[in-house]
Amino acid sequence: MSNPVTFSSKAVGASSPTARFAPLSIQRRAPGPDDVQIEVLYCGICHSDLHQVRDEWKSVMPTVYPCVPGHEIVGRVARVGANVRKFAVGDMAAVGCMVDSCRTCPQCKAGEEQYCATMPTFTYNFPDKHLGGVTMGGYSDAIVVDQSFVLKVPASIDPARAAPLLCAGITTYSPLRHWKVGPGHKVGVVGLGGLGHMAVKFARAMGAHVVLFTTSERKRADALRLGAHDVILSSDPAAMTAQLGTFDFILDTVSAPHDLNAYLEHLKLDGSMVLVGAPAEPIPLGVFSLLFKRRRLAGSAIGGIRETQEMLDFCAQHGIASDIELIPAAKLDDAYARLLKGDVKYRFVLELASLK
Ligand code: NAP
Ligand code: ZN
Ligand code: ZN
Repeated sequence: MSNPVTFSSKAVGASSPTARFAPLSIQRRAPGPDDVQIEVLYCGICHSDLHQVRDEWKSVMPTVYPCVPGHEIVGRVARVGANVRKFAVGDMAAVGCMVDSCRTCPQCKAGEEQYCATMPTFTYNFPDKHLGGVTMGGYSDAIVVDQSFVLKVPASIDPARAAPLLCAGITTYSPLRHWKVGPGHKVGVVGLGGLGHMAVKFARAMGAHVVLFTTSERKRADALRLGAHDVILSSDPAAMTAQLGTFDFILDTVSAPHDLNAYLEHLKLDGSMVLVGAPAEPIPLGVFSLLFKRRRLAGSAIGGIRETQEMLDFCAQHGIASDIELIPAAKLDDAYARLLKGDVKYRFVLELASLK
């Protein structure tokens, strides 16, 4: 353990898959020479937090309790180590889903730390190289992170509305960029939640024709306001056949098992559908949905640090931020219940001042 000196931080966490959130005191390492200590102000609530807290991903990433989730972190720099040049005390800074990686494998060298050969160190529920145990996330009033994994928040973005950009933002921006979405493309976004609403904003800002697929008729007006040109209600059989074979690209953000084939059939020749939603259960695939039109089905995970900064700067340039509902810690359990029902407009953000 390289740095055993610690300090206490107030947090909220869960002690089992079924427990309600409760206050906790956790230990953070005192900042080393390359570290930035952040007073966390806001932390977005990602559906991944819910999957992890409830141990829904136990076959892939079992949860260690107590679990303090949160990887959409924005706050003020409180202390910096001797080698830190990028940040000064008082700066607005952000941390996303990763706090470290091996830094030597080809992916890390290419700035794609999210695909690190030995896995990046995720912000919570991942072995903590410094203190032992597992990492603890942003539902806490302080976090200490190596400067290489800390982002700058552009001054023009409201800090609370910036928080969800650190996961929902980069997870949707990265595949849209990788598949070079732009003018002349017809893009589908499946699901209007935290990720989906950012995907709609980004695809529109990149110049594409954007169509939202939703299970919720009540979200139609919001989808159009957020930037969609058109909305397809997935429970309407006529709507679900009217535009088959016409999409260049579809980004699927759905958090629960659903029929992929119905969306694949919307792709034109050589079109791609990318899954970013992460339901725990396997999903059946009818291969004919792929082979007759040489369609591609792929996945994508968050984005690298360099691209995350690019995304934040893109947001500043285009006046983009997340649409949020700010909540105190006491409302976390209610927020999770609403998230499960797809009832969110369009990201809950925890206000850490409520822990004081
Ligand atoms: P969210 O805010 O809960 O949004 C998910 C949306 O999916 C819902 O609002 C709903 O939209 C739709 N939906 C939910 N259940 C559905 C069902 N049974 N059938 C069809 N549609 C359904 O969640 P989120 O935070 O955006 O996260 C979405 C998923 O992405 C989660 O699984 C999360 O773990 C994953 N994720 C992955 C990455 C990555 O790196 N790949 C990063 C972050 C999150 P409508 O009401 O519009 O239908
Ligand atoms: Zn997330
Ligand atoms: Zn690596």
